Amino acid sequence: VVLFEKQTRIGGQLNYARQVPGKAEFNETLRYYRTQLARLGVEIRLGTEAEADALVAEGFAEVVIATGVVPRVPEIPGRELGHVVMYSEVFEQKAKVGNKVAIVGAGGIACDLSHLLVHNEVISAQTAEYLLSYRIVDEQTIHRLQASKRKVFMLRRGKHVGSGLGKTTRWATLAQLKQRGVEMLTQIEYKRIAPEGVYISVNDEEQLVPADTVIIAAGATPNQSLYHALTNRLPVHLIGGAKEAGELDAKRAILEGAQVGRAI
Ligand SMILES: Cc1cc2nc3c(=O)[nH]c(=O)nc-3n(C[C@H](O)[C@H](O)[C@H](O)COP(=O)(O)OP(=O)(O)OC[C@H]3O[C@@H](n4cnc5c(N)ncnc54)[C@H](O)[C@@H]3O)c2cc1C
Repeated sequence: VVLFEKQTRIGGQLNYARQVPGKAEFNETLRYYRTQLARLGVEIRLGTEAEADALVAEGFAEVVIATGVVPRVPEIPGRELGHVVMYSEVFEQKAKVGNKVAIVGAGGIACDLSHLLVHNEVISAQTAEYLLSYRIVDEQTIHRLQASKRKVFMLRRGKHVGSGLGKTTRWATLAQLKQRGVEMLTQIEYKRIAPEGVYISVNDEEQLVPADTVIIAAGATPNQSLYHALTNRLPVHLIGGAKEAGELDAKRAILEGAQVGRAI
């Protein structure tokens, strides 16, 4: 078995997920795979983009396509401006993020991103609980200590924020974001992005969401170009985000990988 990965490390979008406060456990998922793949002697070609002709030439009997997703860029005028970046660039530390942020999108990834951006190391939730339980400080002080210097707006055309988050975690995540001052504007229409922020309209009234950084986190489509290039040339299997770009579903990607591996 040969594993091709065009990045310099395995893990795909789990490398983004693991940076989110509360999701550090994904580090263990990745450690597990690194250990098992080495133990089982899987050849890993990092920094290597798999291409149809090369795969055919090398004579593989079966190919599993787990190429993930392509982030969607909504057609908002001004999206080409320099302060507009993709969520992936933020997680890869390729984009500088200012203190006034507008996120285009408000699904699970946008929520995780907001969480990361307003996360304040000054005082953890555990410390806050301890200080409060012994009445060492009052709630107002805790709020002040936990407040982020960064102002984040999440924007969404639809009604709901955090769709794609688990039923039992959604309310807690949203409550935490609100506590940290993240504002969620729903049922809006995008007008344009300008250097000073994003112009939206709410109930036909135009308003400016001030932002020095605009981050696009507006869903994704399956990345199927390699799959189509190989169809009718080699037996191919499609799994994970490349099959269906559901937002936060590593479990399905892992299950489909296990199932197709067994079937082969
Ligand atoms: C911020 C964030 C938080 C998340 N949190 C959760 C969560 O809490 N729970 C959960 O279940 N899921 C979560 N997810 C979703 C989870 O990360 C994805 O469902 C999962 O990573 C999908 O796995 P995949 O292998 O299908 O695709 P990906 O993880 O997208 O990996 C695809 C890989 O293929 C590589 N690639 C693409 N084309 C080629 C090519 N031609 N040659 C070689 N390599 C190629 C890419 O570089 C990439 O590494 C989160 C995602 C994000 C972004």
